Amino acid sequence: VIKIRDIIRDFKLGQETVHVLKGIDLDIEHGEYIAIMGPSGSGKSTLMNLLGCLDTPTSGSYVLNSQDVSQLSDDELAEIRNKEIGFVFQTFNLLPRTTALDNVALPMVYAGESKSARSERAAEVLTQVGLADRMDHKPNQLSGGQRQRVAVGRALVNKPSIILADEPTGNLDSKTSVEIMKLFEEIHAAGNTVILVTHEEEVAKEAHRIIRLRDGIIESDKRIR
Ligand code: ATP
Ligand code: MG
Repeated sequence: VIKIRDIIRDFKLGQETVHVLKGIDLDIEHGEYIAIMGPSGSGKSTLMNLLGCLDTPTSGSYVLNSQDVSQLSDDELAEIRNKEIGFVFQTFNLLPRTTALDNVALPMVYAGESKSARSERAAEVLTQVGLADRMDHKPNQLSGGQRQRVAVGRALVNKPSIILADEPTGNLDSKTSVEIMKLFEEIHAAGNTVILVTHEEEVAKEAHRIIRLRDGIIESDKRIR
C-alpha cells in the first residue's frame, strides 16, 4: 500500500537549508504492523507527517494505494488524509470545548456525512475503544489514557486502512500505555496497517517489523516475527 522512493525532505530556516530526510526508500504491505524508532531529531515525525499526507517531500516519490501523492495540493492531500489515513498524536490534539462524541465525529463532518450518521458511527467507535460511558465528557473531564482513546476513535471513525501514530504513549504512564497498545493490536488484528513511532523497546516489540532511523536515513529495517 505504501511505496516510497528516494524521499528527501529539506526545510529552509532563514538562509540555511536543513537536510532532515536524506533519501528514504520504503515498501509497506497492507496489514503490516511497524514500529519506527531512532534518536530524537533523526526525522521520525518528519517521515510520519509525509506518510500521513500532512506534508509533501522536497523530492522523491510516494505512492499510496497506487496513487502518487508526492506532489498534490493541500486540498487534494486533505481529502486523501480524511479517507485513507487515521493519525494519532502524542499530545492527543483534541478540541478542548467539544465532547468526546463530537471530537470523534469531526472527520465525518469533513467527509460530508449527515448528523445522525455521524453520531451513530462516533458512538460505535467510542464503544469500541472502551469509552461507551464517557461520550459526553469534554477532554478536561477525561484522564490522559481516555483522551488518547478518544484520539484513537477519531482516527478510526472514517474506517481508514492505515493508522499512523507518533509516540501515542509518550504522555502516558506505563499501565495506561499497555492499554493503548492493546487497542493498536486490536486495530491491527482487524486488518489495518499500523505504523507507530516509539522510543520504548517494550512498545516496539509488539510490532512485526522495526525500522530504525538515524540522521535522516534508514539505519536498519528488521522483521521480528
Ligand atoms: P523526536 O524523537 O524528538 O520527536 P524526531 O525523530 O521526530 O525527534 P523530527 O521532528 O522529524 O525528529 O525532526 C528532525 C529534524 O528536523 C530536527 O532537527 C528538526 O529541528 C528538523 N525540523 C523538523 N521540522 C522542521 C521545520 N518545519 N523546519 C525546520 N526544521 C525542522
Ligand atoms: Mg518526533
